[in-house]
Amino acid sequence: MKEIVLVKYGEMALKGLNKKTFEDMLTKNIKRRIKPLGKFVCTSAQSTLYIDPQDEDIDLSEVVERVGKIFGIAALCRACVCEKDFSDICEKSYEYLEDVLGCAKTFKVNAKRSDKAFPMKSPEICMELGGKLLERFPHLTVDVKEPEITVTVEIRDTNAYVHAENIKGAGGLPVGSSGKAMLLLSGGIDSPVAGWMMAKRGVHIAAIHYVSPPYTSERAQLKVEQLCEKLTDWCGGIAFYCVPFTELQEAIKDHCPEEFFTIIMRRLMMEIAQRIAAKDNCLALITGESVGQVASQTMAAIACTDAVCRIPVFRPCIGMDKTEIIEISRKIDTFDISTLPYEDCCTVFTPRHPKVRPRLEDIEKAQNSFDFEPLIQKAVENTEMKTFDISK
Ligand code: ATP
Ligand code: MG
Repeated sequence: MKEIVLVKYGEMALKGLNKKTFEDMLTKNIKRRIKPLGKFVCTSAQSTLYIDPQDEDIDLSEVVERVGKIFGIAALCRACVCEKDFSDICEKSYEYLEDVLGCAKTFKVNAKRSDKAFPMKSPEICMELGGKLLERFPHLTVDVKEPEITVTVEIRDTNAYVHAENIKGAGGLPVGSSGKAMLLLSGGIDSPVAGWMMAKRGVHIAAIHYVSPPYTSERAQLKVEQLCEKLTDWCGGIAFYCVPFTELQEAIKDHCPEEFFTIIMRRLMMEIAQRIAAKDNCLALITGESVGQVASQTMAAIACTDAVCRIPVFRPCIGMDKTEIIEISRKIDTFDISTLPYEDCCTVFTPRHPKVRPRLEDIEKAQNSFDFEPLIQKAVENTEMKTFDISK
């Protein structure tokens, strides 16, 4: 019996004239993601993509697992391929649905007939197939309101398809359809979640990370690289930029008042991020900030940080509680990596009494007391890039 995976497009079905571009992007993302699993033919029709495996031994549950993490998909399911012939549909259904219907108590049949040349109309298909399934599985009863199992029959162009599952897709828009942005990725819980949320809106992510050896260890960087790798499951390929930040942090410590350390450091991070963003065609920055979470994330502090930004800064976690952010980080499987105990450069030289309501003019004055420009340029020049991609 031949089985395929059906993918239903998400929100982009609404995109009118751009729909084709969105579909092409999604198809490309899906093909890349499943290519390591074997040979497939992917075709699209009527807001559905058909993933047709060409080898016998392809593991369809792995296909579903991977495709379930691709943004732009509303729902997906495995389905059995039938001839467009009612008796074939019945025969295949008996075999294909034996396990699920064997364990269920109630069911209903749902039919979609996009090929209007098929001789039976949808209500008739539902009634007839429902009757046949009842004969075959006499322990079942029909429940049209709250069935345990909904058997769906789709009569389409070349074939009919039968399935009994509907898996929720990752939602959102295909990665790449909204352009590229630079994620400031620390080893913490929030920034990977922020990157994931923007990828969900179709943003292709590049990541930048600041290291301050010897204050931060190589293991701290490896942890962030591990996070990057995890994110590729959802975000696709990620260019990862690692910025040597020690000299800048030491200069802040030597030349600026302690209470401003963190804000000035964050302004320098933003400055470097947008220079590298420009080189890599990123149109915005992304951070994991959330209002009030720490002293550098009060509204006044964020205003001082934003004052150096010449491109938009997206902060998708801004209104979220930590518990909500943690919930997502568990779902996307970054939580266990994020909670490994390595230090971040943000915790180096942390002021004892950071200013929670800094004034921009005070910050600018403090920062202007030293010429950071040569060190900024040096850090940008010495930034190393690695790419992470869907691994297996
Ligand atoms: P996170 O959990 O994402 O680390 P946080 O609550 O620890 O966030 P901060 O340490 O103040 O908050 O950092 C705020 C944001 O600044 C982070 O979400 C991240 O976007 C960015 N950031 C912090 N440290 C670094 C770093 N070493 N490299 C790159 N970006 C960083
Ligand atoms: Mg952090």
